[in-house]
Amino acid sequence: MKVLGIETSCDETGVAIYDTDTGLRAHCLHSQIDLHAAYGGVVPELASRDHIRRLPLLLRQTLAAAGLAAADIDAVAYTSGPGLAGALLVGASVAESFAMARGIPALPVHHLEGHLLSPLLSADPPAFPFVALLVSGGHTQLMRVRGVGDYALLGESVDDAAGEAFDKTAKLLGLGYPGGPQLAGLAESGVPGRFRLPRPMLHSGDLDFSFSGLKTAVLNVVSAPDWDPARMADLAAEFQQAVVDVLCAKALAALKKVGLKTLVVAGGVGANRCLRATLDAALARRGGRVHYPEPALCTDNGAMIAFAGALRLAAGESVPEVCAVRIRPRWPMVELRPPVQAPAI
Ligand code: ATP
Ligand code: MG
Ligand code: FE
Repeated sequence: MKVLGIETSCDETGVAIYDTDTGLRAHCLHSQIDLHAAYGGVVPELASRDHIRRLPLLLRQTLAAAGLAAADIDAVAYTSGPGLAGALLVGASVAESFAMARGIPALPVHHLEGHLLSPLLSADPPAFPFVALLVSGGHTQLMRVRGVGDYALLGESVDDAAGEAFDKTAKLLGLGYPGGPQLAGLAESGVPGRFRLPRPMLHSGDLDFSFSGLKTAVLNVVSAPDWDPARMADLAAEFQQAVVDVLCAKALAALKKVGLKTLVVAGGVGANRCLRATLDAALARRGGRVHYPEPALCTDNGAMIAFAGALRLAAGESVPEVCAVRIRPRWPMVELRPPVQAPAI
């Protein structure tokens, strides 16, 4: 079965084709970073309009890269939520129209399920059950995962997400947009420990996180009269280390709590090299293992949506026959259920 995946939840237009027999056939991505850079953040109306502009060409490019025609596609999977309503509507409309024109099913997919399952796309995929650390621009969550759609929330951020903390801290340090990767890059040339920042909620006894105070702690350092901008890399390194220390400690505590040794990391912050090295070393010491998506598939993309949709469709998930544009801008992941099969007639 060849599944076309469409992702438009925020500022990336992603299209991909996943083949349940041969794997990922093609994936194309257009990032709107340049469009939003002048505003220092995503402008929803501009995002929607750009998705409209890009999708037709990306669809053609993806089919060509896979060596397929539209008639070869067996099903469409699209990001239905969570995300920006206008942006989601574009992907949902195109996906449902494509499916209706070809008489094939269209399956709404949860964006975070796409992130969470993306490490299963790698050459050496993890087996269920595992603990997932979802660290993206909008979410920081620890989940116990028993199978597709079987997710139990173990803990989450009570305020900013980890990626959001990276982005906001980068902004107050005057780094470019989007700041997360630039802050991480600067941290590589600095030394953690020369500044001392808090490790929020490290000893809270639960599996929740808080990152907004860390950003304020950085603001206090750079607002002090003796602040020396030449020490920016050391401050970035300490900030990164603080985030990584808390993420690592809570991920280990989650594994201990549920008695597992397999950790899966997904979402944009999963591309962070310091986080990867720290988690790899910690799990190796405990006889466990960490799985990540390919670095290029950590942030938003169509491949993870095509893949999550394909897994559900292959498991027999039934798709409503009536064509309707289904979006859900707010959609808690724990509401998801395992693939539901249509009753036998
Ligand atoms: P969500 O999936 O929760 O809706 P999102 O789609 O915006 O949010 P992603 O695309 O998964 O999030 O990830 C983007 C985030 O990842 C940004 O906040 C970005 O700063 C962060 N990020 C990307 N690369 C790195 C890195 N190397 N180090 C730290 N953060 C990073
Ligand atoms: Mg993005
Ligand atoms: Fe995302």
